[in-house]
Order: sequence, then structure tokens, then C-alpha cells
Amino acid sequence: MYKKLAELYEECSSTPKRLEKIKIVSKFLKYLSSTDKDVLYLLLGNIYPEYDERRIGISHQLAIKAISKATGTETKKIIHEWKMIGDLGKVAEKFTLHKKQSTLQSHILTTEKVLENLRKLPELEGIGTVNKKLSLITELLTSASPLEALYLIRTLIGDLRIGIQESTIRESLASAFFEKSKETSEKIQKAIDKSNDLVTVFDIAKKGKIKELEKVSLEVGKPIKAMLAQKVTTFKDGFKEVGKPCAVEYKYDGFRLIIHKQGEKVILFTRSLENVTKQFPEVVEYILKYIQGESFILDSEAVGFDRKTKKYTDFQAISQRIRRKYNIEELQKKLPVEVNIFDILYYNGKSQLDEPFEKRTELIKKIIKNHPYKIIHAKQIITGDEKRVKEFYKKALKDNQEGVMMKNLQSPYRPGRRVGNMIKLKPEERDLDLVITGAEYGAGKRHGWLSSFILSCKEGKSYLEVGKVGTGIKEKSEQGISFEELTKKIKPFIIKEKGKKVEVKPKIIVSVTYQEIQKSPNYNSGWALRFPRFTALRPDKPLSEITTLKEIEEDFKHQKRNYQYG
Ligand code: ATP
Repeated sequence: MYKKLAELYEECSSTPKRLEKIKIVSKFLKYLSSTDKDVLYLLLGNIYPEYDERRIGISHQLAIKAISKATGTETKKIIHEWKMIGDLGKVAEKFTLHKKQSTLQSHILTTEKVLENLRKLPELEGIGTVNKKLSLITELLTSASPLEALYLIRTLIGDLRIGIQESTIRESLASAFFEKSKETSEKIQKAIDKSNDLVTVFDIAKKGKIKELEKVSLEVGKPIKAMLAQKVTTFKDGFKEVGKPCAVEYKYDGFRLIIHKQGEKVILFTRSLENVTKQFPEVVEYILKYIQGESFILDSEAVGFDRKTKKYTDFQAISQRIRRKYNIEELQKKLPVEVNIFDILYYNGKSQLDEPFEKRTELIKKIIKNHPYKIIHAKQIITGDEKRVKEFYKKALKDNQEGVMMKNLQSPYRPGRRVGNMIKLKPEERDLDLVITGAEYGAGKRHGWLSSFILSCKEGKSYLEVGKVGTGIKEKSEQGISFEELTKKIKPFIIKEKGKKVEVKPKIIVSVTYQEIQKSPNYNSGWALRFPRFTALRPDKPLSEITTLKEIEEDFKHQKRNYQYG
């Protein structure tokens, strides 16, 4: 019954303590039957395992319409209330309560029905999709109690707010079915990493046999999360993290491709587990032609290059290849890619995850026939000498790449983890000084405060938007500049308010770092900063000295992109 799940959500959200949450979830897991196991997806706000591309993806707007329809409340009223409370779930709860009191209707909502309707949402396509989605959601909301409506809405908009992560479920599985220990947790985690599916792990864990969990294996064709790197700023620190000697590789400026092969079938996934096989037919061909083995999973970075000059291009130049669904052949000719293989996770029926990196590298070298500008083993040296790393780093930058990766030779591959045995080193990011020209009120714990700020640069006497920042601003003022402080500073300069958005007189100047500048139709400057991060208020700067449009364009030309697709 969905009621039970809603109560579980509520119990979890009422305690900030991790251990309490684990206790609550583990009790729930003990009584969860195998037939209801898909409820576990809902616990994390999903409807399928993480590797599955299908997501609920409902906009706030549609959720508002559904609440309106199900409770007979005007949308205007809902939006007003949302602005006041800052949580659409709570708004749904409130209006459902009003309705229930007046109609005394009651229905029973089952988790099967919830899953059934939610799973229909991503399948809908074409004309009338919005209305079909609306009726699927309204059907659920009409049968929901106020508490159920709260969590249904939060699930739909992807903001469950109960503080349950994959790690909470891992610990809950450990405490529900095993003697708790660090080793048990690690074994469960490994099974989760390999299967990428909590329900599979739950099914095995329920039997209480830890040995069974060890049998969970990688599956060719099922996407696996990529291992991520930590960052250092000096070669010395790099060696401190990964030891001497270590492997040093180019940090290619392209996008990550995880390659699966079984027999004649090749599947390519991005870092966000998106299947992009169709977009890269030549890569499929390279894999089949130049890499030996019946089955394997490889980790790699694809980079673009200029066919004539053979110079490597930046990520921006080839990014359109990832999304393009038509004229693939033409784009393939125009924007060729070279695949740089840097890791191997599985080979001929055997997981390589626990093999030391050194061994995995040997295996790559053995099975790959290097074909520059098609497919190669990533450029690598093995050294303990800082000078050599520095030379290699300079060469990488000269080759238009981002920097270097330093890797511990003994380390295993840890899917989905940001690990200290793989380090990235790249040039420092540059600061821009921009002025705030707009903002938006936040939700949840940030309600009542402006929490997202529109940044603009200067072009003659006008100001042109280049992006939005929310990152880098603190929740509490003891930690730095807080949302509350910034809101107070901005309020006197608000010119116009529309819904949650405000227009602001250009007065407040801030410094931000960013990862990349992109061309963008979304802002009137024609540019967008990717991942801008607030670093400081700049009351010392006059408006006349903020970053100009021309400087942004210059930065774009010279940037060493740090952004990776996905
Ligand atoms: P960044 O923006 O610095 O790439 P990130 O969070 O996107 O950070 P990280 O995991 O921190 O990604 O950095 C590693 C990324 O670098 C990988 O995701 C991969 O796409 C890319 N990369 C390029 N060359 C290599 C290499 N030789 N080994 C591992 N990763 C590489």
C-alpha cells in the first residue's frame, strides 16, 4: 500500500540522524516481500534501476496543473501558496486536505498503481502527451490522502527530501539481513556497483548469504557508472595521493565513452549512462576491427580532431555529435573522433575490477592495435619523477588537452566512486566579475530567500546575461556569504517581480569561477557559463570594470575546457 511508503518517507524526513534513518529503512526492508521489491526504486525517487534511462521528468508546471485538477483549486492559488511555502508537495498536501474535508471521499492507493502510472509517463510520445500525462497523475492524486499527495508530488518533480541515499539503503540492507561490519558493507556496495540495481541486491541479500552477493557480476550491455577522479593542484600532492611511481596519462578534453562488446554487438554509453551507439558508427567499427576479445567493457575518452591539420579540437567542437540523431554520416565526416582507451573493467567473461591498474593496463596494451586518429591506448608514462610529469603535462596542454591524470598502479576500479587513487591536474580556473541583474526565490529550506542569481556582463552601456549562479553561496552566514545576506543586499534594487522571479537593477557585483563558456541561445549575450560558482562579493569594483562581452568571447576562444559531457 502506498500509505505505508508515504509513512516511511515521513518517518525518514522527520529525523536528520543517519543511523535513525537506517533503522527505519532496515525495518521496512525486513518485511518487504519479493513481489513488492520494486518499491525500493520509489524509495530513492526512481521508477527503474539507475542504469535505466527512463525517468519520470515532470515539470513543476504540469504538477501544478494536476494538483489543480485533482483538488479543484485554481492554479493561481496553488502558485501563490507555493511561493509562500516553497514546497509543491506541501501545497498538494494542504489542498488535498481541504478537498477531503469537504467531500469525505476515500480511495485506496496501491504502490503497484503508483508504479504503473509513473512508468507510463516516460513512454508517452507525440500529440496529446501533456494531457495524457496530466490524467495519469491526476488519477493518482485523486485517490491520494494528503500525506500521499505530498510524496507523490515530490516524487514527480524529483525532489523527495527524505535524506535517503544509495548508501543509506546499503547500510539498511546490511543491518536487516547480516551481522553488521565494515566488510559486509563493502561487499554489499560492490554488488550494488556491479549490478547498478538495488532490487537485484535486495533479492540476494534477503537470503542472508554474503557469499551469494560476491557472485553478482558485471553484465556486458548493462551500463555501469564510471570511476571519478579527485583533484590536486601540484604534482607533489599528486604523488602524495597515488604513490611513486605512478601512471600519468593525458587528461583528454572530450567526453567519456564506456564501451561494451559481446560478440559482434557493441554498445556505447556516456558517463550519464546514455546509450549513444547510433551516434558513433565509426567507433563501433574501430572496436570490432582493432580490439581483440569476445567480450569486454572498456573505459575511454573520445576526442575530436581536425581532419586536415590533425590537431585536437575542444569538446565544444564535437559536442553536437552526442545529441545528433539524423545525418550522422555527414557529421561523422565533419567531426571525427579518436577513442583513447584508458581502462578495462571486464574481459572475456571475467571482471577486471579487482585487478591492479598496472595489470589492467597490460591487458589493454595486449588486446588493442593502436590506430592513431581512430582508436589508441591513452598516452601514458610510468614515472616517479616530478620533472617528467611536468614535461608530460606541458605536452598535453600543447596538444590541446586539459592536463594530466595520475593513477595509482595497484588500485582497483571502483565504479561510480570519486577515488583518491585517480587524480586530475589541470590549469586553474579564471575569475569573472559580473553583475546581478535578476534572481529567483528558492524553495524548501531556502524559501523566502533569493537562491538563484542571473549574472550579466557589460556591452557598451547595457548588460547582457551570461548565466545563473547558486553554487558557492552558503546556507549559513558563519560559513561565508549566505543566501539570506545576498537577498538583503539585493532587495532594495528589485525593479520588477513576476511569480518567483525578480528583475534587479545592476548594482551588486560578484566574482565567479566557471568550468566552461558555451554558445547559448538561452541568454541574450549569446553565451552561457557552465557551472559558475560564486567566490566573492566585489563591492570594491566599479560597474565600469566588470567583465565585458568581448572578454567573454576572448575567454571562449582560449579556454581549456574543464567540462566533460554528462
Ligand atoms: P572535470 O570537469 O575536471 O572533468 P569531472 O567531475 O567532470 O571533472 P572527473 O571524474 O573529476 O570529472 O575527471 C575525470 C574525467 O576526465 C573523466 O570523467 C573523463 O571523462 C576524463 N578523462 C580524460 N582523460 C582521462 C584519462 N586518461 N583517464 C581518466 N579520465 C580521463
